[in-house]
Amino acid sequence: MSAPDNTTVPDEVRARHAELCRELDDHGYRYYMGAPIVSDAEYDTLMLELRDIEDRHPILITQDSPTQKVGAPISVDFAAVEHLVRMESLGNAFDFDELNAWADRASAEVPVDAYLCELKIDGLAVDLVYERGRLVRAATRGDGRVGEDITLNVRTIGVVPERLDESVRAAPELLEVRGEVFLPVEDFHELNKRIADEGSHAPFANPRNAAAGSLRQKDPRVTATRPLSMIVHGVGAYVPAGYSEAEGGWGVDSPESAPEEVKFTSQSKTYALLGEWGLPLSDRYKVVATMDEVREYVGHYREHRHDPAYEIDGIVVKVDDFALQRRLGSTSRAPRWAIAYKYPPEEVTTKLVDIKVGVGRTGRVTPYGVMEPVLVAGSEVEFATLHNAQEVARKAVLIGDTVVLRKAGDVIPEIVGPVTERRDGTEREFVMPKECPECGTRLGQQKEGDVDLRCPNARSCPGQLRERIAFIAGRKALDIEALGYVAATALTQPLEPADPPLKDEGDLFDLTVDQLLPIRTYVLDPDTTEPKTDPKTGDPKVVSFFANLKGEPKKTVEKLFDQLEEAKKKPLWRILVSLSIRHVGPRAAEDLARHFRSMDAIRQASEEELAAVDGIGPTIAKSVREWFEVDWHAEIVRKWAEAGVRMEDEGQAPGSRLLEGVSVVVTGSLEGFTRDGAKESIAEEGGRATSSVSKRTSFVVVGDAPGSKYDKAVKLGVPVLDEAGFRILLEQGAEAAESVRINPQEEPEEDTGE
Ligand code: NAD
Repeated sequence: MSAPDNTTVPDEVRARHAELCRELDDHGYRYYMGAPIVSDAEYDTLMLELRDIEDRHPILITQDSPTQKVGAPISVDFAAVEHLVRMESLGNAFDFDELNAWADRASAEVPVDAYLCELKIDGLAVDLVYERGRLVRAATRGDGRVGEDITLNVRTIGVVPERLDESVRAAPELLEVRGEVFLPVEDFHELNKRIADEGSHAPFANPRNAAAGSLRQKDPRVTATRPLSMIVHGVGAYVPAGYSEAEGGWGVDSPESAPEEVKFTSQSKTYALLGEWGLPLSDRYKVVATMDEVREYVGHYREHRHDPAYEIDGIVVKVDDFALQRRLGSTSRAPRWAIAYKYPPEEVTTKLVDIKVGVGRTGRVTPYGVMEPVLVAGSEVEFATLHNAQEVARKAVLIGDTVVLRKAGDVIPEIVGPVTERRDGTEREFVMPKECPECGTRLGQQKEGDVDLRCPNARSCPGQLRERIAFIAGRKALDIEALGYVAATALTQPLEPADPPLKDEGDLFDLTVDQLLPIRTYVLDPDTTEPKTDPKTGDPKVVSFFANLKGEPKKTVEKLFDQLEEAKKKPLWRILVSLSIRHVGPRAAEDLARHFRSMDAIRQASEEELAAVDGIGPTIAKSVREWFEVDWHAEIVRKWAEAGVRMEDEGQAPGSRLLEGVSVVVTGSLEGFTRDGAKESIAEEGGRATSSVSKRTSFVVVGDAPGSKYDKAVKLGVPVLDEAGFRILLEQGAEAAESVRINPQEEPEEDTGE
């Protein structure tokens, strides 16, 4: 970085500085109204650029710069109120280096011996004032000094007490607290569904916008219909009961003479007092002594970001002791005694470059968005499914739009919707093709009213076949690592000089080296996934896939044959899944395999017999029957059997396995099992691994940070096992496990309907 230069600021830097200030102010205002047009990540990038310019040219820093102030000016829709104690923002750390640097700076000034770690709730800051225990005012943060009076709206929030609870101790003379108002994720989805049903206005893009929009309603009756909640995380002014303002200071400086037990001396002690007065607090905060523990907390919630009922965008770390907080003080916009560790954003904006259509393994033709690659929730995303033409219309996205892209946890990336404010008129509408993009066959609906279009050329559409082969190789089916997507493409695409060796999956286990060696395949451009072309001829580039330059088999060929051999011995349910029968995923396949024990028995079963199997409904039964009735399907099974693929489960007869009839829900993370591993262990013993807890659930196994399923199990009286108990269940069965349950055996609460 060059040395700060206070005198000569080039005109273009000055202009860029002014432009950034204007843009950031505009984005800030829109954001606090609940209708941002850029993602937080984009906003943060602009802010970094502004900071960088100001670092190099400090003369440009004015009080009015977005780097120096908090929030946004208030709107004219609400009366202005001055906060008793200023509300601040927070400094950010985006990695452990930045977090450690903050801690080092603090420790260099004061002896920090305790940090309070808590969740950074992605909501909006609200200030509450209680006088002699009565809620007299609620306001938005505004610019930190002056906020908007939203008292009537906040009164509709159930968890915010109208009067402080005085059953433990008298309410203070004056208490100003601040916290985050938010909409729990489940309620957000319900609200959006309701809005969609009513067609009243556009759905909210995320819970934060929904909370901001709901809280800033002019009519509190509307706010009352939104299930907002609040968690308190700080204090402003405070005068304990029996004291007057004149006798003591404001805020954390309680009067010297006040009894020790009502003094606010640390963040954690203050929380305890606020809790006694009935204010809503988080039960997930933790006081720790070392930065190692702080990092552990940050790491834990990085993995468990979706455990809380509300969205979080990071962790807030605070020096716990108030005396030390006071000594560290604040900058113009944020305290030096706290820092926000931000997790990678789960929502970003990017350009929707194109909408293409792909054909899936069951013939469903699906539009998907091709975007400018973007980092979201820590991984780069370029494609996102749009499901069907109706969904494209519902989302109202145009090709060329700036779109909001969201990827939360394990959920696949989703295009939330367009940012219409950023259209420039060049965007165009997507038109669903009438023919299959892979084989040109006219698309149709399976039955009238279906939203999905399908390619009816199931057997020889190269797209469908490629997807089926890739699926067979996948983890949910036969898990053949050497048969990746590119290999599946090479084995199925018609490309001169050699025809693809697979006409359908029937010959998969009969492939020979001689068939593989001549196979050539396109070289795909990683950006567009289109074949790369030869600049001279314009023809697509092709390469040999299974043979090296000498024409000998590459190493992967031997691996492929070894793994195909292994795959033949996989359990019956995996073979069933590999057949790509509609609606038959691992769960249904396990149920069928457990009941019938052989492919032959399944093939011969009537629709009624199939539907009578536990876990199999009429839709699956019909789908299975119809599948076996197609000649070339039956031929696949025949060829696979002939090639030595296992077609029955050996071992114990049905009814004699340890967990027969036992259903188990696993929640939270276990030390010795992956999620899939735990499920497989249950299935191997004849049990059913299910995902939601009901009265019929036999056991709930809880790992680390189990979440709401644990609570539900306890409420319903379902036996709960820890990991050790789970091992007993797997080794000794249900009765032994019942005796080591960790929740007491009591009658479940009966809903008497009264
Ligand atoms: P911030 O959101 O990074 O952090 C400060 C706020 O965190 C506090 O005001 C408080 O309300 C909240 N908070 C949540 N949990 C807390 C806890 N446990 N303890 C203390 N505070 C807690 O800062 P900010 O000034 O409110 O907003 C700046 C950020 O907002 C930007 O970094 C950006 O991500 C986002 N933003 C986005 C846009 C946009 O257009 N997308 C515009 C403006 C701001």
